[in-house]
Amino acid sequence: MKNFIPCILLVLICFTCKNNEAYEAETKVEKPEFAIVIHGGAGTILKKNMTPEREAAYKAKLKEAISVGYEILKNGGSSLDAVEKTINVMEDSPLFNAGKGAVFTNAETNELDASIMDGKTLNAGASAGTTTVRNPINLARTVMEKSKHVMLSGKGAEIFAQEQGLEIVTSDYFFTENRFKSLKRVKEREAKKEGKIDTESAYLNFYDADIKDSKFGTVGCAALDKNGNLAAGTSTGGMTNKRWGRVGDAPIIGSGTYANNATCAVSSTGWGEYFIRAQVAHDISALMDYKGLSLQEAARLVIQEKVPNLGGDGGIVAVDKNGNMVAEFNTAGMYRATMNDKGELTIGIYEK
Ligand code: ASP
Repeated sequence: MKNFIPCILLVLICFTCKNNEAYEAETKVEKPEFAIVIHGGAGTILKKNMTPEREAAYKAKLKEAISVGYEILKNGGSSLDAVEKTINVMEDSPLFNAGKGAVFTNAETNELDASIMDGKTLNAGASAGTTTVRNPINLARTVMEKSKHVMLSGKGAEIFAQEQGLEIVTSDYFFTENRFKSLKRVKEREAKKEGKIDTESAYLNFYDADIKDSKFGTVGCAALDKNGNLAAGTSTGGMTNKRWGRVGDAPIIGSGTYANNATCAVSSTGWGEYFIRAQVAHDISALMDYKGLSLQEAARLVIQEKVPNLGGDGGIVAVDKNGNMVAEFNTAGMYRATMNDKGELTIGIYEK
């Protein structure tokens, strides 16, 4: 009997340990080898305003785009390549406000902005206000890799693009009937409201609730590759009826795009003026870095509190160094998709 009790205790301890091991093995979440998440813009995207055909077209293009990046990552390619090539698919589609299909400026031109960031080196490239470069994200990457600068704008950026052999198009390449009609509608609304269009009313209108919804379709991508490198990129036509060389958040490193292997990679979409002031993309990374927040917690804080408290709206997609993906927005919808290393795809448009 003397030896019996310690024996029972030993058996019990062994049993508990074994059970714990089994429990841990069962619940241990495998870190994904790679991951990719994209957006095609956030805003008042409501099901009641969407036809089934249009919805299907968006879903098909999101799937096509993310699959391009997925294949690159699966085959051991870099997150930078995945981000660039995925964004190219959306830039080439008239469905999105980037590349072909970009919104029109007040002067009836298309002025495109883009940026890209490498989380491994913290190197970054951006271009703003270009009118002839077919794929602005390629220009952003070329600025990062082939120039001593981070951001080039306007004519100079176009000369650089030409010198680097990027594809140059005439400005009518970017024309789409839909976007042109949107500009006309916004201008009519503006004229009706103000009685006339002068610079002062134009400035006020820029912050008008009607106008802020004239910019859906910015595109962006964040990815983690098999080597643990994060990258993010964003490309846009900006805001319908923009004037005076207005530049939004998309080409601003830390606002529209940020990537850091120590934390996460983020691409933003939304009301650019507020995203610049809130430093959205870097803020999410900084909250993880300095405060130890998870990606989800950091994204929620910035998108559900910081940005709306300033008066802005929009969303982000992001992936952290462990492959956790997040799509956070405070608008009625955001075109978005995720794909993990098992090829499992999720696509979303509306809030729920
Ligand atoms: N953020 C872009 C801009 O302000 C527009 C958008 O994402 O919808 O230029």
